[in-house]
Amino acid sequence: MSRQAPAIADFRRIVIKVGSSLLVDAEAGRVKEVWLASLVADVARLHAAKRDVLIVSSGSIALGRSVLKLPKGSLRLEDSQAAAAVGQIALARTWSEALSRHGIQAGQVLVTLGDTEERRRYLNARSTLDKMMEWGVVPVINENDTVATNEIRYGDNDRLAARVATMASADLLVLLSDIDGLYDAPPGGNAQARLVPLVERITPEIEAMAGVANSELSRGGMQTKIEAGKIATSSGTHMVIASGKVEHPITAIEDGGPCTWFLTPANPITSRKRWIAGTLEPRGTLTIDAGAAAALRMGRSLLPAGVIRVDGQFSRGDAVIVRGPDTAEIGRGLVAFDVEDAEKIRGRSSSDIMSILGYDGRVEMIHRDDLVVNRD
Ligand code: GLU
Repeated sequence: MSRQAPAIADFRRIVIKVGSSLLVDAEAGRVKEVWLASLVADVARLHAAKRDVLIVSSGSIALGRSVLKLPKGSLRLEDSQAAAAVGQIALARTWSEALSRHGIQAGQVLVTLGDTEERRRYLNARSTLDKMMEWGVVPVINENDTVATNEIRYGDNDRLAARVATMASADLLVLLSDIDGLYDAPPGGNAQARLVPLVERITPEIEAMAGVANSELSRGGMQTKIEAGKIATSSGTHMVIASGKVEHPITAIEDGGPCTWFLTPANPITSRKRWIAGTLEPRGTLTIDAGAAAALRMGRSLLPAGVIRVDGQFSRGDAVIVRGPDTAEIGRGLVAFDVEDAEKIRGRSSSDIMSILGYDGRVEMIHRDDLVVNRD
């Protein structure tokens, strides 16, 4: 049976991601105050209805470059880092002022990739957000663009917002940008392209629809939104993509305006497994045989005997991808051995491991509590 689009009022904790092009008037070099006030009025209404709201706001680089009157075109890393330093301070003040007009306190949170990918730091960031929400403060979150380097950064706020949503155990992620949803064909100049109102599962066909549409100001096109959808929906968070080019964009969704919903499967998973499922940077891959794949799907642990190939550079406890004999991804998990040991014991029975490794390690390559198996 196909499922229906939910209503915003159904949700308790909502992350709203705002794209740069909505917030920053690049020509004038300032924030679009009127539009922002209309969004903040929507936020205030949700807040008054006892919903927790978290904002992920882009715009530090766009705002900084227009304040500094930097030339058009792509910026070098140090230029965008320095522009972000100027833009972020203005961005945070803008949000804080807009929210305070409704009697709401804002708190600025700047995160780097490591803050969400390393479990200890992830838990730490999560308790900070929890405390802010307990106090009724609205977190205004962005990547710490001033210190994030090319190799270690999200780069786009779509995936960052999805990661924040799973970290905060939000039940809804709203992505507002200049596109009103997912189209079944590239919308530019194609009269046949239709908006897809509901995605129950992100299939390869859905991914193919994402194409490459990018807007000038933001880094994230539809592809990063689909990636965000995967992170969110695999972790128990619904997602909706809608245009923020209208005033009161949240009200517009509630009134049935154009948007695309991505639904998460009904059965919730533990927060630890959410974290594993949403890992952005797995360190390696274990390819397993058909028997082990079947055992995993029945909820068992992965034993060394079922592993046919070990790739990557991982240490004990790192996240790895598990692939079946046909190389399709079966799931993700935290591996119990360093890559060197994993290589030595792959294909071997658990009883041999002590003599191979010279110590009595855990017999599972990935324990079932550390494993998230994708739904078919
Ligand atoms: N963190 C970037 C900024 O605030 C935005 C990244 C994005 O556009 O997705 O400028």
